[in-house]
Amino acid sequence: MNILIQKFGGTSMATEKTRKNVADKIIEAKKIYDNVVVVVSAIGRLGAPYATDSLLHLVNYKNTKLSSKEIDLLMSVGEIISSLVLTNTLLESGIDACTLTGGGAGIITDDNYNNADVININTEPLMKLLNEGKIPVVAGFQGVTIGNDVTTLGRGGSDTTASLLGEALNASAIEIYTDVDGIMTADPRICKSAKIIDEISYNEVFQMAGSGAKVIHPRAVEVARRAGIPLIIKNTFNNSRGTSIKRHIGVERKKTIEDKLITSIAHKTNITQVSIKGDIDDENFFTDLARENVSIDIINIFPERKVFTIDDVCKEKVIRLIEKYEAPYTFIDDCCKVTVIGEKITGVPGVMAKIIRCLSKSSVEILQTADSLSTIACLIKEKDLVIAAEALHKEFMLG
Ligand code: ADP
Ligand code: ASP
Ligand code: MG
Repeated sequence: MNILIQKFGGTSMATEKTRKNVADKIIEAKKIYDNVVVVVSAIGRLGAPYATDSLLHLVNYKNTKLSSKEIDLLMSVGEIISSLVLTNTLLESGIDACTLTGGGAGIITDDNYNNADVININTEPLMKLLNEGKIPVVAGFQGVTIGNDVTTLGRGGSDTTASLLGEALNASAIEIYTDVDGIMTADPRICKSAKIIDEISYNEVFQMAGSGAKVIHPRAVEVARRAGIPLIIKNTFNNSRGTSIKRHIGVERKKTIEDKLITSIAHKTNITQVSIKGDIDDENFFTDLARENVSIDIINIFPERKVFTIDDVCKEKVIRLIEKYEAPYTFIDDCCKVTVIGEKITGVPGVMAKIIRCLSKSSVEILQTADSLSTIACLIKEKDLVIAAEALHKEFMLG
């Protein structure tokens, strides 16, 4: 039997009208596939009563007294409400649907609350429902530990749920429905000239997602790649073809990307740059950061200075830690990271020079840089983000 996984994001679930669009996509899919499994995110974005950020606001998240285990229980509710509401819409449309929580769908995780890893999926409950001809609507972004405590899979993790269920059920394809026409050369919210990409490799999109392109979660890409299942990003609100993510991209796309060194630009906001002066005990300091669950990025270590970036939500924790080491420090707030991505930049001279020339022509100050085999990232002030993204997009002829 062939199975399709369809995942619908928060904006797709936002109103009764948009949920009708969702129901239409499910009805269309059921005409083609023997079975459809639906995964949903919490309803709407910040401000909507049951959106994940709204739930976190209720408990003053940055300084909450709740444990990370309790925060997971709170966040999981958003997806549970959403799946029940969609099941109701489907039943009203005469579709035999039923709701499952992540745990109910057999998703077992470790106990790394807020960012748990899935260790096993028991497909029995889902297979039983599919064999009864039902459409299961699974609450995304969550699982349970072996001890039955609720966990979540990291922000944006409903995409991961979709890929993991696709892998476990050996699905034919995984469709991720959202509010844009597919994967674009940059985030269309900040780069008006961004263009849709019809086909893209797992690796390229993994780099984009890992560099902050929120359109898909990097773990979802990794799992789909591991399972060799095509991932398709589509718009809930129209019938555009979307972006296919697969192992081997077609000849046409290959020709176009072969002309191009850089194929997309991603960005990540809410970053703080930390500089610590003086000769502190590096080993203990960085171990302490890890113990506090602070993830660091763009790291430069010199004998007399350490410079790295953190998510700004971790700032208070980091201040407390640095003060323990009695070292002088400075922070630069309101930063963001702009990353240019291209699988073919490895060893090509002049890419960094081009980026520096382009940003300096646009009067954008570069605070720090980092590079990998297929990415070059620049830390800049958040106020310069739009101008930097547009300038780089134009410089590398992505429009
Ligand atoms: P959902 O709630 O459907 O999961 P997300 O907000 O997580 O939606 O992801 C969709 C958003 O990703 C888009 O609205 C868009 O602003 C953003 N985005 C970032 N980078 C890209 C990109 N390269 N292509 C398309 N969308 C992108
Ligand atoms: N609702 C969760 C979040 O906002 C998971 C998701 O949307 O994928 O992070
Ligand atoms: Mg998302």
